[in-house]
Amino acid sequence: MTFSIFGLAVSQGIAIGRAHLVSHALLEVAQYQLRDKDVPAELVRLDAAFAAAKAELESLREEASAPSSPSELVVFLDLHTMILSDPMLVDEPRVLIKERRCNAEWALVQQMQQVVAQFEAFDDPYLRERKQDVVQVVERVIKALQGKPRKLTKRSGKDGRDEDLIVVAHDLSPADTIQFKNLKIGGFVTDLGGATSHTAIVARSLAIPAVVGMNHARPLIQDDDLLIVDGTRGALIIDPDERILEEYRLKKTALELERSKRKRLKTAKAATLDGVEISLQANIELPQDMADVKAVDADGVGLFRTEFLFMNRDDLPDEDEQFEAYKSVAKAMGGKPVTIRTLDIGADKEAKALRGAERIQPNPALGLRAIRYCLAEPQIFLAQLRAILRASHYGKVRLLIPMLAHASEVDQALVLIETAKTQLRNAKLKFDEAIEIGGMVEVPAAALALGPFLRKLDFLSIGTNDLIQYTLAIDRTDEAVAHLYDPLHPAVLRLISLVIQTGQRAGLSVSVCGEMAGDPRMTRLLLGIGLRVFSMHPAQILEIKQNILMADAAQLVPKVNRLLRFEETEKIREALGKLA
Ligand code: PEP
Ligand code: MG
Repeated sequence: MTFSIFGLAVSQGIAIGRAHLVSHALLEVAQYQLRDKDVPAELVRLDAAFAAAKAELESLREEASAPSSPSELVVFLDLHTMILSDPMLVDEPRVLIKERRCNAEWALVQQMQQVVAQFEAFDDPYLRERKQDVVQVVERVIKALQGKPRKLTKRSGKDGRDEDLIVVAHDLSPADTIQFKNLKIGGFVTDLGGATSHTAIVARSLAIPAVVGMNHARPLIQDDDLLIVDGTRGALIIDPDERILEEYRLKKTALELERSKRKRLKTAKAATLDGVEISLQANIELPQDMADVKAVDADGVGLFRTEFLFMNRDDLPDEDEQFEAYKSVAKAMGGKPVTIRTLDIGADKEAKALRGAERIQPNPALGLRAIRYCLAEPQIFLAQLRAILRASHYGKVRLLIPMLAHASEVDQALVLIETAKTQLRNAKLKFDEAIEIGGMVEVPAAALALGPFLRKLDFLSIGTNDLIQYTLAIDRTDEAVAHLYDPLHPAVLRLISLVIQTGQRAGLSVSVCGEMAGDPRMTRLLLGIGLRVFSMHPAQILEIKQNILMADAAQLVPKVNRLLRFEETEKIREALGKLA
């Protein structure tokens, strides 16, 4: 019988295939006592499982170092390898096997519970979070003990054709997700996860249809069930009948055709039917992402989220390490703009090595994050500013400051930028004296009181992810309130329109670098509001370019103006549908 369940659509597209249930190994652990004579064999079994898990991680690490792989994964895999060889995890279960004659799985789970309890007691939120990694590593070893390796293999369908696998899991780590690339996994669904979870981010970067936050999908599905993942609507269709299947096959073929046609757009200029030129720029996290940027010939890097250089490590990247990273991106873009955002740490992005990290609490999204943190820790900020300034000698670098709300924050940041420049002049190090300084508009206060920003800064970039979070008071990482996180709320759209109109009237370039810019449903709306610079994940650029090529900017203006006057989101959504 056909039935559908819904979750959060985090990666667009359609996948049709057979369910592959990734079991929740920790829930299925056998507990028994060994006979004395079986103890040595059990120790060998445990060692073999650790070795198998290590080999799996090593092979994943190799796959993850390909230039096309999402760069954050390498650090996750390294972290998991480190945990895997931690004596607390390797040695203690051996003691439990020898002294209490527990079977290996049971011994390992007991020790994991001890380690997790220790992590939970940490004040440092970064360390507390790492308990998830411990659990994932133990789960990998348990799978090896149970003879169910985590690595998936492709298989053939009943009629001999290769079939897509749809991975169905309670939760997935980014390390698991990387396997999907080489095995051509069709799609995946998980019970847990929000739209900004790492798993969702990896899925988007690999262009695999995915639905997360489904709550109870896994218990309803059997291995080999026929499934359709509709990553655009956030739907999972189980056991579809022939009519639905045919409808989705047609949709899927049409989407694939579209995607391959789009590749031809790589070198086309992004301009509307009435000749308005649009700049399509890329968001990156690490220099390794430049391969994707090049593949779509982006007009620039509109947002370099530098905090990723600070995450998942025990030390801080010093000025020289940062300089090399920024310089490599500046050089790779060969004169196209590269917008480097200063450290936007805090909220869901943590770096344990930073001084005062324990102060980034207890409501992190409203706390000491981004520019607030940098002004509180000027030495860290100055080192980064010097690194960015030095890189400006090697390309067209622009400096972007996140989360500004007060004019005084702009003033203080500008003073520190001047200080960094003076230090470089004294040290006879070269930089672009005319480097442009911009601010992110992502706090409603900044959008509503834009005057000082217009007078003191060279450009603006609207961070819609946070602007929506702060305008609607919705935690962007919390799946429980995800249904209220709505870019089409009239308050959000009015703020975006206000910033674009006011900024451009004052002669500043204004871009959008939040997820809205890469959402094809929003392209006409943003064009009609007057947006001319879009920055998004490189994988989204060609689809947005295609929308731009088919739009008439002048005709959109009166329609969008009418839409902006609606008071209800539903009316806006209806009007948005008619913009096509
Ligand atoms: C945003 O807030 O829209 C943005 C682009 O920044 P981040 O997602 O890194 O907070
Ligand atoms: Mg932001």
